[in-house]
Amino acid sequence: MKTLILRNKVELLEALNFRKPRKINFIPTMGNLHEGHFELIRRAKKNGNINLVSIYVNPLQFNDKKDFDNYPRSLNKDLKYLKELEVNMVYLPEKGFNLNNTSTIDLGDIVNKLCGKNRKGHFEGVATIILKFLLVIRPEQIFLGEKDFQQILVIKKVIKDFNLSTNVKTVPIVRGHGGIALSSRNQHIKNINNLEKVYNCLIDIKNKIDEDNFYIKDLEYFKDNLIKSGICRVNYLEILKESDLSELTSIPSKVRIFISCNIQGVNVIDNLGLRKIYLKECGKLKFSS
Ligand code: AMP
Repeated sequence: MKTLILRNKVELLEALNFRKPRKINFIPTMGNLHEGHFELIRRAKKNGNINLVSIYVNPLQFNDKKDFDNYPRSLNKDLKYLKELEVNMVYLPEKGFNLNNTSTIDLGDIVNKLCGKNRKGHFEGVATIILKFLLVIRPEQIFLGEKDFQQILVIKKVIKDFNLSTNVKTVPIVRGHGGIALSSRNQHIKNINNLEKVYNCLIDIKNKIDEDNFYIKDLEYFKDNLIKSGICRVNYLEILKESDLSELTSIPSKVRIFISCNIQGVNVIDNLGLRKIYLKECGKLKFSS
C-alpha cells in the first residue's frame, strides 16, 4: 500500500476529495514519532476509514522561540515509520498556514489552569491550528493521547463551540521503561532517573489515596520530595476533576492527578486517572461508594 505524502492544502484536498466515502480518521502530531504516536495510529486504523497523520511543529503553541527552534525534528525517520505502519496519508503543511494576523480563539477559563498558567498563549495556539486542520480535513474522528489531557479538553471545546461534527477518540498514555510517559522531548533529558521520579510520584500519591488517607494539602509534601530528590522546578502537582479541571468539591467526580516539572530545561508533563469516584470532605479525598 502506498502512503501519500501531501505537502500543501491543494494536494491534501485533491487526495481527500478523490476518495469516496470521504471518512477520515485524523491523528495530529508534531513529529519525532514514538510508540505513543504509533498507538494512536493503530487505533485509528481499526475501522475502515482513511487514516491521515499530520506532522506540523506549530509555532503558535510555543511561547519561547528557542523552544520552538530546539523542538526535535526527524522527518525522514518519521516518514519511514509511517510507511511501515501503512498510513494512508501524511500531511506536512510546511507552507500551508498563513499565521500573520490570524484570528485567535478565546477559550475561557480552561487556559488559566495547569499548563495554561505558565505557558501563556499555548492553548490558544493549539486551538487555532487544530481549527484550521479540522475545517480543511473535516475528519469523522480525531485521535488524541491522554498524555496531553488538558489539550483534549481544549480540542473538545473547539469542536463543540464551532459546531463541528468530529468525534474525539482518546488513547491512554503509552509508557516506557520505569513507567516514563513517552514524549518527543524526552531525548533532551540525559538523566532518565528524573523522569522515573515523576511517574513514581504519581503512583505514590495514588497508593496513599487507595489507603484512604490523603488530604489535598499532602500534595505539598510530594512536591517538596521531588524538589529534594533533585528536580529543580515543579510547575504544578494537582488533583482536579477530569470534566473541567476544577477543584474537587463535595460532589462526587472522576478525578485525575496532574503533574508538570521542568527537568534540564524541558517541560515534562504526566497524569494519572483514578478509577473510583471521589469527593472532598474537610480537605480529605474520600471515595464515593
Ligand atoms: P505531539 O506530537 O507531542 O504533539 O503529540 C501528538 C499526539 O500524540 C497527541 O494527541 C499526544 O497526546 C499524543 N501522545 C504523545 N505522547 C503520547 C504517549 N506517551 N501516549 C499516548 N499519546 C501520546
